Amino acid sequence: MKLSASKRSFNICKAEIRNMTVECQKLKGINLAQGVCDMRVPDPVIEGACAAFKSGLNTYSRHDGLDILREAISEKLRMHNNINVDPNSEIVVSSGSTGALYCALLALLDPGDEVIIFEPFYTYHLNTINAVGAVPRIVKLYPPEWKFDREELGKVLSRKTKGIIINTPNNPTGKVYSKDELYLIAEFVKNHNLFLFSDEIYEYFVYDSREHISPGSLDFAKENTITISGYSKTYSITGWRVGYCACQRKWAEIIGYVNDLIYVCAPTPLQYGVAMGIKKLDQAYYKKLRSDFEKKRNIITKGLKDAGFSFIEPEGAYYILAESSHIPGSSSKEKAMELLRKTGVAAVPGSDFYLRNGGSSLLRFCYAKEDEILYEACERLRRMNR
Ligand code: PLP
Repeated sequence: MKLSASKRSFNICKAEIRNMTVECQKLKGINLAQGVCDMRVPDPVIEGACAAFKSGLNTYSRHDGLDILREAISEKLRMHNNINVDPNSEIVVSSGSTGALYCALLALLDPGDEVIIFEPFYTYHLNTINAVGAVPRIVKLYPPEWKFDREELGKVLSRKTKGIIINTPNNPTGKVYSKDELYLIAEFVKNHNLFLFSDEIYEYFVYDSREHISPGSLDFAKENTITISGYSKTYSITGWRVGYCACQRKWAEIIGYVNDLIYVCAPTPLQYGVAMGIKKLDQAYYKKLRSDFEKKRNIITKGLKDAGFSFIEPEGAYYILAESSHIPGSSSKEKAMELLRKTGVAAVPGSDFYLRNGGSSLLRFCYAKEDEILYEACERLRRMNR
């Protein structure tokens, strides 16, 4: 037999986010493509990790995470998310929220099971569904408000539907799902006996006095929800790979076995650093994070408007999906490359967030950057428009 890559791997397409980062590096440009949050890591997190290195906490942890971290996460879930889980049996610490989602899908889905995702989607969600041999079923979010149609949700349902993935606050749209929308989804998963995989990695990034609501806190969805989050964004530690999922014991146990198989454990000293962050940082830290990012959002929205882009104001996360029909190019990739060539600013082609022909006039900008870098990017974009 001829050597070939697995059939499965053909469904795991290369994310344009990475491609644009490579192109941007070649030109030494400003990378507003990848969601790398390069803010300062809070002191207790760094100090916690250093103390762990020095004190010899350098071996495998329990497969589902250090006790101290699971306990800190459980307390945080109770206070911040209104979710009550047993730290000893209902939390699995994994290699980032990406690892937690992969383990959860591998543990709970069979090949051929269908999973509903909202489009535009976070590309890794689609790829993770494909990686486990499940089948994505699309429900559209319609601009400008990025609302979905409840009838469409009903229409994609089949005998094979086993789950739904939701991401609030949302990448790439900046949407924060409303209470009504979440109730509707919660009722839907309950009525049809589906898993609700809820990616809440941007839970602390909500603006204009909005609040983040965890689907797992809603009565209907409590039992069906796998709450997934992590600290990559909140503590600016994307390279540390510490995330988690929280769910009923019977699911957490199996997800834990899969996590053990794939990752063995998340990096032990870094788990300790995150635990120290959760325990030692007070509400003022999260409040400041939120107001800092609200300011960044305001810088970029003004800059993009001045440069001729249109979009709706993001409600959360740190991305803007902007209508970019004034940029030359017949596809969003061409537009992204043209923008990069002319301004040195990298954005992600909108088509990366759609399954078929969608997103061709959209570009996604990430504003998790220092303010000066954002001002410089905005100035370059404005100049292009002159
Ligand atoms: N989920 C969403 C929606 C994201 O946008 C990202 C990163 O961009 C992640 C998860 C990755 O999080 P982690 O670093 O915890 O794997």
